[in-house]
Amino acid sequence: MDDILNDAYFMKQALSEAEKAFDEGEVPVGAVIVCNRRIIARAHNLTETLNDVTAHAEMQAITAAASVLGGKYLKDCTLYVTIEPCPMCAGALAWAQISRIVYGAGDEKRGYSLIAPALLHPKTEVASGVLADEARELMRRFFVGKR
Ligand SMILES: [Zn+2]
Repeated sequence: MDDILNDAYFMKQALSEAEKAFDEGEVPVGAVIVCNRRIIARAHNLTETLNDVTAHAEMQAITAAASVLGGKYLKDCTLYVTIEPCPMCAGALAWAQISRIVYGAGDEKRGYSLIAPALLHPKTEVASGVLADEARELMRRFFVGKR
């Protein structure tokens, strides 16, 4: 399968996680972790449900993937996340030694790339803009509903 098609396919899965978050009243961010073209973890933001500011989609996904793999490193894995990771999650992804990160929409307020681009390991490959409009639209709908 072509890599770009692959990225869109897995990002759709991350978006469906973000929709779950939306339905639960959580800021709609979703993530999946893929290893050998197989989804090994699916997660969405749970900060309200768990009363935990660290319960971002990426953090949940990292923990779940490590448990599936039986090891703390995610060296041959790709994380797909609908919104650009914040510095906390970028730091965690660096600790996990993830090999690739694909995100949808950029986050010009909380995104790691503006605040702390050096957080990621230099060997970590990053791609962005995959289904960005869908991710952004879900966020927009969420915050309109909150006002
Ligand atoms: Zn985060």
